[in-house]
Formats: sequence, C-alpha cells, structure tokens
Amino acid sequence: MPYLKGSLHVHTTFSDGAHTPEEMVKAYLDLGYDFVAITDHDYLIKPHYWESIPDRAGDLIVFKGIELEYPPLRFQHFGKILGERETLLIFNHPNQYRLSIAEVNRQIQVISREMEIHCLEVTDKGVYTKMYDTPEIPLPKIASDDSHTLDMCGWAWVEVQSQRDRDSILRAIKDGNFKIGLK
Ligand SMILES: [Zn+2]
Repeated sequence: MPYLKGSLHVHTTFSDGAHTPEEMVKAYLDLGYDFVAITDHDYLIKPHYWESIPDRAGDLIVFKGIELEYPPLRFQHFGKILGERETLLIFNHPNQYRLSIAEVNRQIQVISREMEIHCLEVTDKGVYTKMYDTPEIPLPKIASDDSHTLDMCGWAWVEVQSQRDRDSILRAIKDGNFKIGLK
C-alpha cells in the first residue's frame, strides 16, 4: 500500500489565516502532498466556510475540518476532520498550554467522556515537541504545520499507509498506520 503524505491542520482567511482555502490547497499541491485538511477556528469562522473548502485539487484530496474549543477545558483546542463516514479527532498542540504529560492525560480523560480523541499533535506550529511523543500518552502521535501563512507550509506532516480515499486515510491514522515527517 502507498504512503500518502498529508497535512492535518491548516488555517485560511475564514479564520485567522492569511490565505484563501484555494491558495493553501495549492501550496500543498505544489509541495507534492496527497491530502490536506482545512481546519479553521470554530469561534472565528466566517459565513460560507464549509462550502468554500474545495473537494480536491488535481490528485490532492481536501478534507473539511474545524479546530474546536472545548469550553469545559479552557483554551484547549482540538481538530475535527470529516471523512465520508469517519471523523478524526486530534488533541492539538499541548505545548501551547505548557501541559505536563499527566495534565495531557487528564484532559484526554475529560474530553473522552463526551467524544473519543484519536491522536495527539506532537508539534507546535510545525516544530517538534519531543516531550509529548511518549508512550505515556496512549494515543498515536501526529505532526502538522498548523499553517497560517504560505511559509508555514511543509514543515511537519504525516505519511499514512492507506488507500487513496478519505475514510481509509482517517481509519489508518486512528489505527496508527502512519509515520510523522519533519523538515
Ligand atoms: Zn490551529
């Protein structure tokens, strides 16, 4: 099965990003990615967000997604990426909240009462945060750019062993069938 290179955390002008969904998608297409997920902030998104995310660009698959706040845990964000039937939930950038490993596990427990968290982001805006890449946190570890501008694209990614369709990609990530890549 092929390894598909993808970006799971991307912002656009629909929240606090500097470029339109088309421009960000084109940047990842030009970098040779196989898929990208647009994940603007839920508390900032402008009207017509969902229908403004293209389905694909050439062979590049584009996922619709969103970065959610979780009010019971102040500040904590997580990424939600939609497939056809599958949904992937990512615990985002614990480094931004300076969380200890124990605090990450406690937060995951709290969120898990309402929804299942599938993986943990071990990068902070494309920079690897090694302390969270530990078996003490019992989730697959993903890497992403959390890109807001074009120069933030292509620093950290996942390579997923999967068929080239949305649900297969999301299932493979949930199953841990991927590796992370860092520039
Ligand atoms: Zn973000």
